[in-house]
Amino acid sequence: MPVVTNLLDFDLSGLTDLLATMGEKPFRAKQLFRWIHHAGAGDFGQMSDLSRGLREKLARSCAVVPPRLVAESRSEDGTRKWLLEVSPGNRVETVFIPEEGRGTLCISSQVGCALECRFCSTGRQGFNRNLTVAEIVGQLWWANQALGRDPEGDRLISNVVMMGMGEPLLNFEHVVTALRIMLDDHAYGLSRRRVTVSTSGIVPAIDRLGRECPVALAVSLHAPTDPLRDLLVPINRKYPLAQLVAACERYVVCAPRDFITIEYVLLDGVNDEPAHARQLVEVLKPVSCKVNLIPFNPFPESGFQRSSPHAVQRFRDVLIQAGLIATTRKTRGDDIDAACGQLAGQVEDKTKRTHRRLGGSYV
Ligand code: SAH
Ligand code: SF4
Repeated sequence: MPVVTNLLDFDLSGLTDLLATMGEKPFRAKQLFRWIHHAGAGDFGQMSDLSRGLREKLARSCAVVPPRLVAESRSEDGTRKWLLEVSPGNRVETVFIPEEGRGTLCISSQVGCALECRFCSTGRQGFNRNLTVAEIVGQLWWANQALGRDPEGDRLISNVVMMGMGEPLLNFEHVVTALRIMLDDHAYGLSRRRVTVSTSGIVPAIDRLGRECPVALAVSLHAPTDPLRDLLVPINRKYPLAQLVAACERYVVCAPRDFITIEYVLLDGVNDEPAHARQLVEVLKPVSCKVNLIPFNPFPESGFQRSSPHAVQRFRDVLIQAGLIATTRKTRGDDIDAACGQLAGQVEDKTKRTHRRLGGSYV
């Protein structure tokens, strides 16, 4: 079977190079790119301003191939979740969260995650592979088709957060190419301030993102001391808090917003005491940031409980009294397991983590 080139894999400069190999001028690449991402066309027959010759040439060796839809769920609160198959046995989840004045798409970057944060359902599932550019951007392409447009003819997705399955900064190249497509005015034209990469703290990649494609940054902190963070977010053993905080300081200088979002999942009796909040205030002193407190979203056998509303309020008050901006994230879509940390998809685990946990004899 001839190899088909998936055009969702290319940003505009990549598409320009590809078309050059077919003897086509750069403006043709721009037209094609607009058809694919701006108009959402997947069929070359629709691309009326391309010559018939070019359309036939493209149809012989290229296609627009988004991930395959397996299932869709809708929450009572309007949140929608799509389960997309990226290869046999491997499925990722994408979530759309409608809010007053904006619509946010939460995108996955990997099949599973290799980092094993203790409170995260994705981390529990193990890791299979990085998503390709087409599989990352294909989630946005797909969701735009599924959602259609509002009565004014505008798209419903105004914001993208890389907060689905996986650690985006461990799939750096593909994520950055996908971000460039999201930001490109000929494609989705999203503002850098409205595209957020969330990371558990891959310090060198935070610096690289600042240099190569600064977008809004969220850092999943979850603990104010190294011993506790080592337990909850094991990548902390490699990049401890002091290094992470220093990377945040450096990032703010090139970031499109003048602050970083700090994410903090509140786990009952684990990291939600006022003393933790006071320690967090100290840790965050050097960084211009806003803290987003996330009530823990339970999943089977997590071993953690959500903090009580009283504990959340108490924690938040300490931060606010110290002059920090702190908000509590509204839980959305938990009736369809679409809330933060509940995404699980389907992962053919290559790390054998699930086997180990279930008492298998893996050595
Ligand atoms: N790997 C990246 C992005 C995906 S996780 C990261 O860790 O930042 C997106 C967010 O959901 C992170 O802040 C993560 O810590 C949080 N999260 C994970 N499990 C959760 C759970 N069970 N309840 C609430 N939030 C969770
Ligand atoms: Fe991976 Fe993020 Fe989950 Fe940690 S919280 S296991 S980094 S997806």
